[in-house]
Amino acid sequence: MAESIQKLPEDGFRINQFPMAAHGFFRKYRNLSQWVFIAIFIILPWVKINGLPAILINIPDRRFTFFGLSFWGHDAPLLFFVLASFSLGLLLATSVWGRVWCGWACPQTITIDGLFRRIETLVEGNHIARKKLYEKSFDKEKIVKGAIKWFLFFAISLILSHTFFAYFTGSGKLLSIALGPPSENLTTFLIVNTTTLVILFNFGWFKERLCTVICPYGRLQSVLMDENSLVVAYDEKRGEPRKSCNTDSEETGDCINCFKCVAVCPTGIDIRRGIQMECIACTSCIDACDEIMRITKKPKGLIRYESENGLKGENTVFWKMKTNIYLGLTLLSVIGLFLFIFNRSGLDITVLRAHEKPYQVLETSKEKTLIANHFTLNLKNQSSLKMEVDIIRTDTIGNTKIEIIASALPITIPPGEAKKNHIFIKFPKSILDKKSHHKFQLQVTRKSKDTTRKYIKEITLVGPL
Ligand code: SF4
Ligand code: SF4
Repeated sequence: MAESIQKLPEDGFRINQFPMAAHGFFRKYRNLSQWVFIAIFIILPWVKINGLPAILINIPDRRFTFFGLSFWGHDAPLLFFVLASFSLGLLLATSVWGRVWCGWACPQTITIDGLFRRIETLVEGNHIARKKLYEKSFDKEKIVKGAIKWFLFFAISLILSHTFFAYFTGSGKLLSIALGPPSENLTTFLIVNTTTLVILFNFGWFKERLCTVICPYGRLQSVLMDENSLVVAYDEKRGEPRKSCNTDSEETGDCINCFKCVAVCPTGIDIRRGIQMECIACTSCIDACDEIMRITKKPKGLIRYESENGLKGENTVFWKMKTNIYLGLTLLSVIGLFLFIFNRSGLDITVLRAHEKPYQVLETSKEKTLIANHFTLNLKNQSSLKMEVDIIRTDTIGNTKIEIIASALPITIPPGEAKKNHIFIKFPKSILDKKSHHKFQLQVTRKSKDTTRKYIKEITLVGPL
């Protein structure tokens, strides 16, 4: 066997990979985590919390539901905190644990390894049988197995694309669209089926090429990681010189040059050549080598999670300055996200002075001058419940009565909808200060289900000087 399988030889054509199945400690936990992630992805669109889908990204209505909470287009700052928390968390994880995201949580790895490769193995057999089948010319067996494999790939792609769209349309609506004639929802039908083909192409054929040729995250590793970051690494000091046919009598390291670590590698690299951009930290080579170490009665961990410093026999410093900065920024973003969510009001109220004259003098007498100010009250129901909104009609300042006229109130506002109302505030001129202003607190009440909440909006009443 060649010492290294080149993914991209000079002629530009990729050599197809037929990774051998690895078994061991990491494989067991990766299987478990893959099933958990796949189950969450498939089940989540069907789960309802407070009568709402657990996650729904309704772009046409600019409405988003997230675990029982509803958000609207104007909650866009929330997106900033979500993206910042995710990106900074990823930087933090990469700086400490290297490409742990790629190996354990990336949808590309999970779907290929957890679904598509399992189907391939089920239909075509182990890595040797798959390679043999690939290399042989077309015959009945190759055609039949190929047809079954691609049929199952297509079925899985259909499920994945429909599940993906359920996050945007809601599972119920997607089901009715899927069961109805395509002509009734031609655009959705075309988008979902194009997505199915993209998924089929990506996970069925393109596979790890996305990780090694396209994904920018892999290329950022050299910037994000340092000599203290954990990576899947071969312990050269312990493994070299490797055992080979003509070195039987010499003193050799623990590596018996069995190439099992290369055979299990989904990206086809030889980890013994050092840390490489193509390594997605899937840990298969760790399991494969540990098995060899068990057979040769050597300690496990010739290939292991280790930092560059650890390989040199130096201490690994996890919590260095860079990591602390990432941690601090991640915590700030997460705190910002929670503050935003918990301080968000279910009712958005904006009170604006109407465009006409700032005030009207209603009556003038010796005793008093009565003035009216006209405002528009813009109300937006940001909650997931229907609500009834009203204002407190009268107020007093000392012994002076202030009257608020709002003929269209109370008003019922469905979730996500906005309503506009006119209000007139009648007050005597005597309450105005030298600048003919008076700060007034408008009291708005909101009733939804069994709860009533009161909001105070401060507005300025004006009159003639
Ligand atoms: S699996 Fe271990 S022993 Fe075998 S070639 Fe790889 S590093 Fe050497
Ligand atoms: S080198 Fe090891 S950890 Fe990296 S991709 Fe290959 S098998 Fe996975």
